[in-house]
Amino acid sequence: MTNDLEAIRVLVVDDEQDIRVGSERILGRLGFIVLQAGSGEEALKILQKDRVSIVLLDLKMPGMDGLEVLSRIRESYNAILVIVITGYATVEIATEAMKQGAYDFISKPFEPDQLRIIVNRASEKIRLTRETKKLEEDRKRTLSDLDTEKSRIHTIVESLPDGVLVTNAKGQVVLMNPAFKQLMGLDPDLNPGNPIGDYLPDKDLCKLVMETSQGKYVDYEDIPDYELALSAQKYLLARAKPVLGEKKECLGAVVNFVDITTMKVLDRLKSEFVAKVSHELRSPLSTIHEQLAVVLQELIGEGSAQEQRILSRAKEKTRGLISLIGDLLDLSRIEEGLICRAPEPVRFDEQLKNIVDFLKPQADGKGQSLNLEFPKGPLPLLTADPIALESIFGNLITNAINYTQEGGEIKIVVDLAGINLRVKVIDNGFGIADKHLEKIFERFYRVKDEKTRFITGTGLGLPIVKGLLDSMGGFISVESAPGKGSVFTVLLPGEIPAEGR
Ligand code: ADP
Repeated sequence: MTNDLEAIRVLVVDDEQDIRVGSERILGRLGFIVLQAGSGEEALKILQKDRVSIVLLDLKMPGMDGLEVLSRIRESYNAILVIVITGYATVEIATEAMKQGAYDFISKPFEPDQLRIIVNRASEKIRLTRETKKLEEDRKRTLSDLDTEKSRIHTIVESLPDGVLVTNAKGQVVLMNPAFKQLMGLDPDLNPGNPIGDYLPDKDLCKLVMETSQGKYVDYEDIPDYELALSAQKYLLARAKPVLGEKKECLGAVVNFVDITTMKVLDRLKSEFVAKVSHELRSPLSTIHEQLAVVLQELIGEGSAQEQRILSRAKEKTRGLISLIGDLLDLSRIEEGLICRAPEPVRFDEQLKNIVDFLKPQADGKGQSLNLEFPKGPLPLLTADPIALESIFGNLITNAINYTQEGGEIKIVVDLAGINLRVKVIDNGFGIADKHLEKIFERFYRVKDEKTRFITGTGLGLPIVKGLLDSMGGFISVESAPGKGSVFTVLLPGEIPAEGR
């Protein structure tokens, strides 16, 4: 007998004491709590006080008869199961009782086993009803927990200071928070539900969000950040991430919008400041450099070796400062988009030959070979800013010369990649360790080891090269192995092929 059944109370209602006592004995042994009533009136009184689950009800009693008691129980205690006790002669009444909602019946006189079976069946039904009720309550609680969780997440998303936009796999907006609407200048009462283009003003960003929603990006790392200029005074950074289901299927995307206007303004102020200071320093430094050159010239044959060494070093340092200032000014011009503003058709092969010729004496000075290779056939026509091209390849070839030992080999190989031009600057010099490779395009980053320590530089050459290529739609990559050499590969966007070279 389970714990549940121990709590079940059975009320035996019969005017025959023997039946009451006998039933109590039989059912008591099964673990039921048995109560007795000798009449219908007494039974109703007990039901008012006690929580009874099963009533064994004799139909034929003096005073209030069984059918009357049954109908009162049905009216007031719907959950109670009533088992009617009938005599042989009262089968019709038993049938009537069943019609009026009795659960079962048992005929008098009955065997103990008959009683056990019938009451056990009723108690089993009660147990199942209780369990069902409990399950239902559990389900309701789980649902209400889920509701609480949902509303908690909703509140968090609503109160985030960053804009949040969620799409489904079709690219329709399913959720946007107040911060997003405010950043975009949308009506606070605007509802989601429409395609992304109805809420985002930028076509390229819509495309990115659409592709992310449709599962183009499996790897989060591949999704580019997107800078959105809403006006000259408002910049946002948008980051999209796919929402994946249990089976890694794409259900949509979440896009986060951060206001980066302040950062942008500070960045611009910083660039303006650097440009201004550099500009102010350049003329006096150039004058000092020229004057040092004159003094050094005059010292020849007259000054001591010590004086000459000090002045040469001062002149060398001044030259370094002037080149740093030149690089800083170049960078700020790239940032302001002033370089590459006036692209023109260029004879790339001629220009590259000129750059190589100009740098050849430097390579010769270190006993290095410097060779230039072109593909057979015409090169695509390039439309670019020639000064930018000169800066890109001047920097790369100078680096190859600087970071390659005496007697090394430097090669510049030009070939075609579709309609684009690919230029490789190859050296068999010091090479760059993996840990530095990603960083060498950052401003002021220089590798300092045994071999490079004494080579002067600003750490601004490669950032300038990358900045220029970015602004002209080009691309740069590097492969390198320490002790073996480096290959810098530049891709320049080309146009229709020119008529021969
Ligand atoms: P700088 O040459 O003025 O130091 P760059 O930005 O041009 O600055 O280069 C950054 C760093 O990258 C250099 O300091 C150097 O360590 C490394 N580097 C660049 N080109 C090469 C190369 N061809 N071989 C080996 N190291 C190089």
